[in-house]
Formats: sequence, structure tokens, C-alpha cells
Amino acid sequence: MIVVLAIDALEYDLVEAFGCDNLKQKFYGKTDISEFSEPRTMVLWNSFMMGENREKEVLAFGDREMWNIKLDIEDTFFARFENPKILDLPGFNYDKEQHELERRMLKEFFAAESDEEKAEIRKDYNNHAFEHHRRIKKEFADALAGDYDFVLGYFSAADVIGHLNFGNRALMRMIYRDMDEIVAGIDDTLIVLSDHGMERIGIFGDHSDHGFWSTGFKDLGNPRITDFAGIIMEISEV
Ligand SMILES: [Zn+2]
Repeated sequence: MIVVLAIDALEYDLVEAFGCDNLKQKFYGKTDISEFSEPRTMVLWNSFMMGENREKEVLAFGDREMWNIKLDIEDTFFARFENPKILDLPGFNYDKEQHELERRMLKEFFAAESDEEKAEIRKDYNNHAFEHHRRIKKEFADALAGDYDFVLGYFSAADVIGHLNFGNRALMRMIYRDMDEIVAGIDDTLIVLSDHGMERIGIFGDHSDHGFWSTGFKDLGNPRITDFAGIIMEISEV
């Protein structure tokens, strides 16, 4: 089984700062996403799945409609596995209602006028994100125990929580430690991959201009996110 742990907004600098040795595996580094005009989640995961830069095609859908993109498995490298299991990946099979709820709450947060109101919305927002995180964690553990030749689990908490709380170091450390523990339980060939990282804007977080990768089998240098389809197919044929 080949496993991809896809972590939205996992930031290289925080993996280092929090000493997440499991996430780092044997080889780790930054991905090069400089070919993209901006680090957009939907553009990056689409490009990952198809093994080519899909920025133009995804942006053509417009800011709203792009979140409805649902690639056919035949258009992705997942189709080259016999029995793949993909969990909650944007642009493929993610939980759109969860995503829309998060966006709505973010808007409410910024529209709220009092500090009390903001604190209340932040609390709700974080709770929803953690609840979703626990659900995916359980589904991921079940998938790892299943009879698949490829498992990809997508985790959004570092991004979702990070946007409103990146300045809250204790909270971010908790999320990174949790992701680090998830890796500790995986014995299969594993690639950890983020689309982009995150940088601090006051208490908030915004996407940074590099992603994170790690493997236990090869130094990939400074790969592009579009290189991973080929890298994964290569190791699946060994
Ligand atoms: Zn984001």
C-alpha cells in the first residue's frame, strides 16, 4: 500500500519549530509552487491529481464555481491503481457542505462588530473544524486497515484553524502534534504533502509560497506539486 497524507497548509517552518520528527520522516523539504500566480488550494490539488499545471483551467471556473470542481477518477493518476481510496480531497470528493460552512463562518467572523461576537464565532468555527478533523482521522485509520493499494487522506484542520488562529501558537502546536502522531501509526510507504504553507498575519494566517513534502525512501530535493503523480507511479511499479 502507498499512502499519501495530504495536509492543507502544513508549514515547513512550523514542522521544524515544533520538532515534528514523524512528519519529517527520513527526507523532507519544501515544494516549489512558484509556477502558480498564487497558492490556491483548489488549483494546487487539481494540479497534483492531474500531474500538470491546472491553474488556467481552474481559474476559468471563477472564485465561487471552482469549489464545485469534481474531477473524474479517469482524469487523475488514482485511476492507475486497482483499488484506491481517497478521503475528502478538494476537487475530487471532499465534503463541500463542511467547506461552505467554514467559509460562511469566516465571513461572519470578519463582519462581526464586537469582540464578544468574534470570540463566539471563532469558538464555533474551531469546534466545527476539529469535529470534522476527528471524523476524517477515523476514516483514515479505517482505510489504512483496509485492502487498498493506494490511500490518500486529506486533512484541512491546519489550514482552516490556521486562517483564524495562526498567531495562537499553542493551538497550532496541538494540531501539528496531532498530525505528527497520525504519521507515527503508519507502517506503509508514505508521502506527506502539503499544497502550500502558512505565514502569520497578526493573529491570522495566510497561505505561504511553498509547500512541504517528506518521504521515508528518497530525497526529492525541491519538487513541484505536479511531480508527485509521476513519483508515486514510479514507486508503485517497484
Ligand atoms: Zn487556506
